Amino acid sequence: MKKSIYVFTAIFLCLTLHSNVSEKFLCNSSYDSKNNKVSSSSCLSLNSQSPDPKEVYLTFDDGPCINNTRKILSILKDNNVKASFFVVGIKANENPQILKEISDSGMCIGVHTYSHDYKKIYKNLSTYLDDYDACYNVIKKLTGKTPSPYIRLPGGSTNLVTSKDNINSIKRALHEKGLRYVDWNVCSGDAESHVVAVDKIKNNVMTQCKNKNFAVILMHDTYYKYFTVDALPDIIKYLKNEGYVFKTFDDISPAEEEEMIKLKIMNK
Ligand SMILES: [Zn+2]
Repeated sequence: MKKSIYVFTAIFLCLTLHSNVSEKFLCNSSYDSKNNKVSSSSCLSLNSQSPDPKEVYLTFDDGPCINNTRKILSILKDNNVKASFFVVGIKANENPQILKEISDSGMCIGVHTYSHDYKKIYKNLSTYLDDYDACYNVIKKLTGKTPSPYIRLPGGSTNLVTSKDNINSIKRALHEKGLRYVDWNVCSGDAESHVVAVDKIKNNVMTQCKNKNFAVILMHDTYYKYFTVDALPDIIKYLKNEGYVFKTFDDISPAEEEEMIKLKIMNK
């Protein structure tokens, strides 16, 4: 009996708290249909992930590729949004014109890796830095622009490909160079297998974006990812309807960077 009273009280407290929270949120936010975003200048953030308004960073790894990168650029252009591309140096050398088009479209371009060969890259600190430099130099040569100081480590910053000591020494070296390594908090799942259903990708993004005011989405613009291309228009539509503002690492502010570090999306 005592136990059931306790459970009832706990449920009652939860419901009361939840209704207060929802009310507080709704009171202070409004939907701006013209700009397709939530205007929430006075919004009291109830989520620990709290840029104001909601922000999304679309990121594409492992390109550029001959078929899908241009399609992605065209979708981004049609929707008037920008994204960040973490490129592979070898692929950039194979497709210089496409890298130039990414750059000319005003997208953010950052280093991913030159070879994407984990065994070679993660042998030790010096092999990692050589690979980083090679990718950096290719991007600079082909675009005429300095690559973004925001990079993405192959396999992410918590990959199990290399030892903890090695990855930590790489992170320290990046820090000393003034570079920031970016992971993600929303995984589209487009690299889970050779073929992934379009609906699964869309669903992964929608589910993981729920209750996030700050989303960095991992996708890939490689040769076989036609399903990522097919999912992208609906993903963008969903994010716009949910009130997200689209950002890249070219226009990230110090406050947003701090938030990303706090959320362990960056410099983890
Ligand atoms: Zn990759």
